[in-house]
Amino acid sequence: MSQQQFENFTASTLYCEKCRATTPVREKLLLVLPDREIFDYLCTECGSSVGQREVTAGEKMMAEALASPSRRRRNVPLRSLR
Ligand SMILES: [Zn+2]
Repeated sequence: MSQQQFENFTASTLYCEKCRATTPVREKLLLVLPDREIFDYLCTECGSSVGQREVTAGEKMMAEALASPSRRRRNVPLRSLR
């Protein structure tokens, strides 16, 4: 898996308008729907929402298969992905 593909499904930094800088973000599960889940990205500096992401059932299955074989519900802290 290339670095580019990986960044497509996990954003580690986003531009925050409040901070006027690119900051590390925290991913928070916002809404669970039957066919998708919606995640909120929160700036770790000021806590404001800087973006959202929809994960469809298919994408989620793929992401989970890549992440770990067992289903994790725990909040894994976002490391800087370098
Ligand atoms: Zn911020």
